Amino acid sequence: MSKENMEPVILVCNDDGIFSPGIQALAEVADEFGRVNIIAPDRQQSAVGHAVTVSTPLRSRSFQIDGRFHGQAVTGTPADSVKLAHDQLMKRKPDLVVSGINHGSNAGINILYSGTVSAATEGTILGYPSLAVSCTDYEEEADLSGAKEAARRVIRYILNQGLPGGVTLNLNVPPGPLKGIRWARQANTRYVEEFEGRVDPNNRSYYWLTGRMELLDEGDDIDVNVLEKGYASLTPIQYDMTAYTLLQEVEEVEL
Ligand code: MN
Repeated sequence: MSKENMEPVILVCNDDGIFSPGIQALAEVADEFGRVNIIAPDRQQSAVGHAVTVSTPLRSRSFQIDGRFHGQAVTGTPADSVKLAHDQLMKRKPDLVVSGINHGSNAGINILYSGTVSAATEGTILGYPSLAVSCTDYEEEADLSGAKEAARRVIRYILNQGLPGGVTLNLNVPPGPLKGIRWARQANTRYVEEFEGRVDPNNRSYYWLTGRMELLDEGDDIDVNVLEKGYASLTPIQYDMTAYTLLQEVEEVEL
């Protein structure tokens, strides 16, 4: 087998779209470990969660970033992109799926709404070791140097150690240089929704979601607080949503 065939194949996806600076930063890191294949939404898809497209066709077109990375832009969601990559677009199946670097935090309940995390989760569902990477700074010009270094360390870890089936790693990193990475659990948070109501030129009401995240949790081990202290947080997450504790309690209850 030639050296090229031994190299790991790394699928890079995101939810901010193929032209976001974050995906290029992650592709640069992945490129240090193997052959990069970027397959990602052709436009901004933040907060679409694990949505898939079922009633319209999906299309993909080739694109280049800087003449350096070749990829496919998909007209669907992050989860669509990974599914299509797996089933149709990749000649060799990936050894690793990485999603990001998202522009914005995916700590706490953001995990559930995040397209970035869902692309990685889809990778896990399909049987590939998968990692989601997010920078807590929303700005397009955010300093991603720490996020790149954290991603580099975690990718190295996954390629060396592997990941158990059904588990995705969720990495969040503050902007700027990396202070360190801490294992953390998902903080219990929720949004205090605030809709701003306006009126369109046709005199119809429309609403714009704003809102802020409320912390219902405490402790040094939660992702939100790890980030607050300036460290990157790394959380193993799973898509099996069964509440095992309750299931055990109610096992004998007859209905
Ligand atoms: Mn995003």
